[in-house]
Amino acid sequence: MERTFAIIKPDAVERNISGKIISKIEEAGFKIVGMKKIHLSKSQAEGFYYVHKERPFFNDLCTFMSRSPVIVMVLEKENAIAAWRTLMGATNPANAEPGTIRKEFAKNIEENSSHGSDAPETAAFEIPYFFSALELV
Ligand code: ATP
Ligand code: MG
Repeated sequence: MERTFAIIKPDAVERNISGKIISKIEEAGFKIVGMKKIHLSKSQAEGFYYVHKERPFFNDLCTFMSRSPVIVMVLEKENAIAAWRTLMGATNPANAEPGTIRKEFAKNIEENSSHGSDAPETAAFEIPYFFSALELV
């Protein structure tokens, strides 16, 4: 079993479609081992996305991620990291496969409704950024 870290981003929480996204996660066979709603500060968003700090979209991305609450989750499944990236679809919804979360729900390449860890090392940083071991059940 593998664990990955997921976010339902502000654009989706604002439009009251968190439940639709959570349904897709459960239907795909993920076990939700941790979940909470939080409102990131700008500096917390910057810390989370520090790998992108040199990218031109970094400031806009952190402003977006901190503008309203998000739902953060830890998902468990065999090959959870790759499976969750597949279910999310491509970063740009214009390139996302039908049936994926980003194809169905994302507004654009930035406001793309969900986040997922992209490798085991990333998940190992991202999960404890938000959750203590006691919160994962
Ligand atoms: P995430 O890390 O959020 O799961 P990702 O791994 O598909 O997404 P990254 O390249 O890590 O994509 O980019 C992180 C986030 O930055 C994207 O999900 C999106 O919100 C934003 N982003 C990426 N590329 C662009 C861009 N060209 N313009 C604006 N925002 C972007
Ligand atoms: Mg990424």
